[in-house]
Amino acid sequence: MSLTTRERTVVEHIAEREDELVALVSDLIGFDTTARAAPDDPPRDERALQEYLAGRLARAGAECDLWEPASENVAGSKLAPTGLDFDGRPQLAATFRGAGGGRSLLLNGHVDVVSPDPRERWTTDPFQADLRDGVLYGRGACDMKGGVGCMVFAAKALAELEVRLAGDLVLCTVTEEESTGAGGLAAVAHGVRADAGIVLEPSGHEICIVCRGSVIPTITVLGQPGHSGIPQPDWREGGAVNAIEKAELVLDAMRHLQEDWRSSPDQRHPLLSAGDIVPCVISGGEWAVSYPSSCSVTYHIGYLPAFADAEGWGSRIELEVAECVQRAAESDPWLAENPPTIVWAPEVPSAEVDAEAPIVSTLLGAARDTGLATRIAGFDNWHDGATFTRLGGTPCVAFGPGGLDRAHTVDEYVPTESLVTCAQAVSVAAMRFCGVAE
Ligand SMILES: [Zn+2]
Repeated sequence: MSLTTRERTVVEHIAEREDELVALVSDLIGFDTTARAAPDDPPRDERALQEYLAGRLARAGAECDLWEPASENVAGSKLAPTGLDFDGRPQLAATFRGAGGGRSLLLNGHVDVVSPDPRERWTTDPFQADLRDGVLYGRGACDMKGGVGCMVFAAKALAELEVRLAGDLVLCTVTEEESTGAGGLAAVAHGVRADAGIVLEPSGHEICIVCRGSVIPTITVLGQPGHSGIPQPDWREGGAVNAIEKAELVLDAMRHLQEDWRSSPDQRHPLLSAGDIVPCVISGGEWAVSYPSSCSVTYHIGYLPAFADAEGWGSRIELEVAECVQRAAESDPWLAENPPTIVWAPEVPSAEVDAEAPIVSTLLGAARDTGLATRIAGFDNWHDGATFTRLGGTPCVAFGPGGLDRAHTVDEYVPTESLVTCAQAVSVAAMRFCGVAE
């Protein structure tokens, strides 16, 4: 297939306005929307950014719904921590009403970003976009204010050229993706849905139809405090026990489980990496001359869709981890009497969209026709599309500018050419998926 005359007009319209697109993404980078590290961290510029987008989209003709979800809206889900509030962190759904008779399409992106730390290592201010040699630098440039800019620009281009779609085009921007996924969940609870969706995560223009789920256990091992400068009797006679040394037993057991996973044929997926178990945070000890009384290790565990339970969650993985920790505990008399505890953080589900689904073939065709060398792929990391797919009845793929290898890094960037081609592909995909009204 090739581009129709009308599609070509839209594609050229976007190419001629590259500066405007770069300015839009630069504006978005300028809002400090660093995700909260703890549930009670105060909001930053989330409201200001969402209002900025709502203003732009309303002027382009969208009906804008900007709302602060109540914590009850996400209560009871494994995705959200209990009592999470959205004060100062509104979600946005902007709908360009179709003329009727076409399929609806969701374009989704998150507006929160990870902390710019270590900030002093950046070449320029992470919240002041910097354009150098066709590359735009700044926190969120690729993950994913670049993608958000592309979807807004694609919709705006259609509006400016008075291309009326048959089906509704719904743009949704959420917070809380980098922290919990609660923003996407709130959007689903609010009724944001469509016949299919594109999440503009930095996929390097690959069309990602599947992503892994993840669970995050924190395993705490207890010791017994005591002076480390004197010999200690056996713990059964009141002696100290070193929680860090006992935690090594758990670390060993988890490493063996990780090795099992890495070599197991069950852990193969044609589009994804095998499941993985990564220790990410460790803390233990109170004083340089005291036996540590406790040691905690937090793991990030990514798993394949085949290991999800019947409801789509990671309970089978949780059981496997609990059994692994229990085996480690049984091998040691202290741990057998003082079993480690496991606390599970909110989790995110895996999701998979059929490779034959209309959104996949439509986007594949649109991306190729706008000049991208693309293919169907998997997204090892989780994204909000899984929530829309699993819980919202909206099958979503990830497709966006820039690569995940630049996400969460110092001097994060997105090539401006990538922004242009992505906006072009998305606008053509929207025309083909929703249909164009005569
Ligand atoms: Zn992201």
